[in-house]
Amino acid sequence: PAADPAAGAAVKAADRAHVFHSWSAQGLIDPLAVAGAEGSWFWDYDGNRYLDFSSQLVNTNIGHQHPKVVAAIQEQAARLCTIAPGFAVDVRSEAARLIAERTPGDLDKIFFTNGGAEAVENAVRMARLHTGRPKVLSAYRSYHGATAAAINLTGDPRRWPSDTASAGVVHFWAPFLYRSPFHADSERQECERALQHLEDTIAFEGPATIAAIVLETIPGTAGIMVPPPGYLPGVREICDRYGIVFVLDEVMAGFGRTGRWFAADHFDVVPDLLTFAKGVNSGYVPLGGVAISAEIAATFDERPYPGGLTYSGHPLACASAVATINAMAEEGIVENAARIGEQVLGPGLRELAGRHPSVGEVRGLGAFWAVELVRDRATREPLVPYAAAGEAMTAFTAACKKNGLWPFVNMNRTHVVPPCTITEEEAKQGLAALDEALTVADAYTA
Ligand code: PLP
Repeated sequence: PAADPAAGAAVKAADRAHVFHSWSAQGLIDPLAVAGAEGSWFWDYDGNRYLDFSSQLVNTNIGHQHPKVVAAIQEQAARLCTIAPGFAVDVRSEAARLIAERTPGDLDKIFFTNGGAEAVENAVRMARLHTGRPKVLSAYRSYHGATAAAINLTGDPRRWPSDTASAGVVHFWAPFLYRSPFHADSERQECERALQHLEDTIAFEGPATIAAIVLETIPGTAGIMVPPPGYLPGVREICDRYGIVFVLDEVMAGFGRTGRWFAADHFDVVPDLLTFAKGVNSGYVPLGGVAISAEIAATFDERPYPGGLTYSGHPLACASAVATINAMAEEGIVENAARIGEQVLGPGLRELAGRHPSVGEVRGLGAFWAVELVRDRATREPLVPYAAAGEAMTAFTAACKKNGLWPFVNMNRTHVVPPCTITEEEAKQGLAALDEALTVADAYTA
């Protein structure tokens, strides 16, 4: 695309005049004006192209501007742009069928929302009404969204300014061997101790007060910590024993990200409720939802479900989900994510870890990887402290962008989370840019 810096400057000026941005000090930000995007790339008005190793906010699993999804939205717009949730419409029915076919076990009823946070809100509401209990347990090192229940469930510093003591949420530690909260020195020990800690938390909170345990199947923004194989089945067993609803949040990990349709598929575990958003239609139109077990759905057979949204199951969103899921199946996009993870990203990142002293650990699977940056490999001291920004990460981020790579950066980590459609050549190009940027990070090690 031809550069047009004047157009870019006008876009940015209007943005700064009137757009109020998420999570930001409004006077301190300098958003990049984006002119367009395709596949794994987007570009600005100054002629710079960026390889998107963040998939925006880890949602463009199918890449930008997939032609089949764009066409489906255009066709649906010409046919029926909107209709209230109370009606039965073809694209909504079909999207629900395609999702239910892929979700694990008997999660066969789909409640649609506009995104991930609303999915979490409704999952919590269903769990409370189903059990008649007030409390919800969730993990430190988690993100569940920015609305009321979702931000209270979140276990990262974004919760602090919005914390409401009355939310009925209790946090516990989930397994993370590299920074073990249990002083464990093996995966097996970490798993056993994490399950015991959860049992203890439940015992002291009172099992009969707990409606749900909410976990990201593989925590995403908090650091892509793949749990030990026995952990989630262990949580399932604990939930069954105490009559607690098990909610898996697959907003980030679902729809191909981990090289399977759902991350739960890696662990042979079936939750009672599963939340999704992002990858369901790669965010082409806002969409999320809750997949509901037969037992919980039956709670609302005779009794009305007291929740709803004007745009629940929006036709444009559902049409884009149908096209996305069908394209992912036809084009082997989930398999591509698995293959790229096993053959390119995993080996490539481990090779970088071997050469760069700033890399403490790389971990992940599919198109879902974290690179943990440290000041000192022996002590594992993070390159910047928890919940703090720091010059080292700012310099690292700038070096990535200078090399045409758009990184996902959170605290002392960079995540390698490209579209699931990324080619081997693109992945290698991104790893080469990362290699150069890590040299900048190395300069900040002890
Ligand atoms: N749950 C998880 C695991 C997420 O990663 C996110 C967003 O990053 C959310 C919930 C919230 O989704 P949304 O931003 O669509 O509300």
